[in-house]
Amino acid sequence: MNVARLLYPVKVLGPGNRMGIWFAGCTHGCHGCSNPELWKKKPEYETGCDTIMKMIKSVARTGKIDGFTLTGGEPFQQQEALRELLPHLADISDDILVYTGFEYDEDFRRENADILSYVTVLIDGRYIRERNRNCFLRGSDNQRISILQDRHRERYLKYIREGHNQVQNFRTGNGFISVGIHGADYETELKKRLLEKGLTGQDNGQS
Ligand code: SF4
Repeated sequence: MNVARLLYPVKVLGPGNRMGIWFAGCTHGCHGCSNPELWKKKPEYETGCDTIMKMIKSVARTGKIDGFTLTGGEPFQQQEALRELLPHLADISDDILVYTGFEYDEDFRRENADILSYVTVLIDGRYIRERNRNCFLRGSDNQRISILQDRHRERYLKYIREGHNQVQNFRTGNGFISVGIHGADYETELKKRLLEKGLTGQDNGQS
C-alpha cells in the first residue's frame, strides 16, 4: 500500500486522540485541494500492512488510540489496501472515519460493501473551493457526513452537534504539517508566511 504518513494524536478530525493515516494517490484533481503533494503515489511511500500495524501497535502501547481517521489522497483508490488494513485497525478501535472524494452512491456502496462494513463514518464528495464555508469536519458544504454504524451514532451526533473546526500543527524536520479543515485561502496565506520565515510546510486534512 502507498501511505504517505501516520500522525498521532490527531484531535481535530474525529473525536478523541486518533491515529491519522494519509494515503498517497488521488485522481480527483479538486481545485484548491489542500494536499496536492499527495496526488501521486511515491515508491518511498510503498509499505506493507505488517509495517504499518507494527508502528500503530507501538503507539498503542504508550497512548490510547480512540479511533482512526483515513484520508489522503484517496483511500478508496487503494481498495485492496483498505481490505487488508481495516480488519487490523478494527482490532484496536472500531471507530474508523474515512474521507473519500467519491460519491457515496449505490454503485460505490455495492463496490465497497465489504470495506464499508468496517467504516464508522464516511465523509464523501469532492472538495469544491467555492463551497468551503467552514463546515465542521468538511472541506466544502457539498460533502456529506454519513454515520454508517449504529453503535457510534449517538456519540457522533453529539460530536458533530457540539464541534467546531480546529487546526493542529505537527512539527517536521524542516517545517510542519497542519491538520484540520482550513479556510479556502489558508494555503496561500500559509505559504506566504512560511516563506517569510524560510520554512516549508504541508497542509492536510480535507479530502
Ligand atoms: S481534496 Fe481530496 S479528493 Fe480532492 S483532489 Fe484533494 S485529496 Fe483528492
